[in-house]
Amino acid sequence: MATIDTAQLADWITRFRDAVTEKREWLTELDSAIGDADHGANMARGMTAVVEKLNGATPATVDELLKTVGMTLVSSVGGASGPLYGTLFLRMGMAAGPVPELDATQLAAALRAGLEGIVARGKAEAGDKTMFDAMAPAVDAFDQGVADGDELADAARRAADAAAAGRDATEPLVARKGRASYLGERSAGHLDPGAASTTLLFETLAAAVAGRS
Ligand code: ADP
Ligand code: MG
Repeated sequence: MATIDTAQLADWITRFRDAVTEKREWLTELDSAIGDADHGANMARGMTAVVEKLNGATPATVDELLKTVGMTLVSSVGGASGPLYGTLFLRMGMAAGPVPELDATQLAAALRAGLEGIVARGKAEAGDKTMFDAMAPAVDAFDQGVADGDELADAARRAADAAAAGRDATEPLVARKGRASYLGERSAGHLDPGAASTTLLFETLAAAVAGRS
């Protein structure tokens, strides 16, 4: 597959809704160790609202779809993750523009813009034990795949594997951003919940792209 169109992007969003709903208890468990035990509920509620908002209709353009996703997340999720994931999708939409589909290079640019939006909003840096620690390596791996001439599906697979490695690497870290940072040294020894949900985001992207290739 050389491109991803709005129907396939909507399929990704639905798969992400399914994944965070299925893994809701696990995400909440991770957040109960170093936060306030609401990450699973936040993500499941937000993504359920998104899929309801889309209501089975596929917008004609990528920016319209992704902006709807982002705005719905911002407005339906209290807590850090709503505005952060919301910003990711809003910035992705702005970067993509009013086009019916994205090729691998355009998707890479949109993901990069989304990551930059998260950083602009949350100021996370590498090693702060946040979603950034899964997302930044995933976006880098996607870029590398594109540079190597990978098919979209292969680049997305590499991104998902990099996200998982980044998630796992958050375990020994001491949190420096978000609620978990209030725990100081006691935040070490647990996976970051946002890095866990971000890995689901890239796993479902890989699955959505592979499912149609
Ligand atoms: P809250 O922390 O408000 O309860 P959630 O539990 O839904 O919200 O989300 C927590 C996750 O948000 C963390 O695990 C972390 O990955 C992410 N996060 C928190 N603050 C930041 C930040 N400043 N930058 C990036 N990610 C952050
Ligand atoms: Mg929380």
